[in-house]
Amino acid sequence: MLDRVGPLALDGPVASGKSSVGRNIANRLGWVFADTGLMYRAIGYLMSVHEIKSGGSKNLLEMAHSATIDISDEQVVLNGETITPHIRSPEIANNASIAAESSEIRALLVSQQRELASKTRGKIVMVGRDITTIVIPDAPFKFFLDAPSSIRAQRRLSERIETTPDLVISEVLKDIDKRDKRDRERNVSPLTLSPGTTLINTEDLSLESVVEKILTLIENPEGA
Ligand code: C5P
Repeated sequence: MLDRVGPLALDGPVASGKSSVGRNIANRLGWVFADTGLMYRAIGYLMSVHEIKSGGSKNLLEMAHSATIDISDEQVVLNGETITPHIRSPEIANNASIAAESSEIRALLVSQQRELASKTRGKIVMVGRDITTIVIPDAPFKFFLDAPSSIRAQRRLSERIETTPDLVISEVLKDIDKRDKRDRERNVSPLTLSPGTTLINTEDLSLESVVEKILTLIENPEGA
């Protein structure tokens, strides 16, 4: 069992495998797992329900400030209502990435994420787009997962094909490219590989091999 303490921060673009990898590592270590994308999706859900198009909307900011968002146990509970089944759609993902361009929304969620990290006393795996750069840049373990967008689109398609049999790869790829571009090019907290963060290309690696690689690296940072 690992005698080191985290947190372990994990960033990466859409469908890079960070949630599956992060969840798996957290289970193996007996740590908390936090997928911060779920918080942005909760805001995306508010936008959808209230027909708000802009992440900078005053109305949205007010609602976000008074909202309670709980992402423990991988359920998303917004103001006491479980919204987990509603937040996986492309519409909510797109809204989430629009909301994520707002510095006010980010500041609000980042402070909640830091609070969550500090409550766990380092025993947390947190995944997102700005965890290694902004949320917990001093985390002792920092990783960035990446793979070509064609590979990521294929993975996303296989995850969704059962529930959406008409889905085609070109549509998934378009959606991924659009969100990646927004995440990498936004002015505030863009997705980027920062110094001190280990890049792992997951293109030819199974989920299990990525998990093993990270566990080996954190247990033996010099020798891996
Ligand atoms: O990870 P997921 O795809 O669920 O995240 C939804 C959107 O939330 C992303 O496209 C991104 O724009 C935003 N996000 C973010 N920072 C995070 C987590 C997610 O900007 N830490």
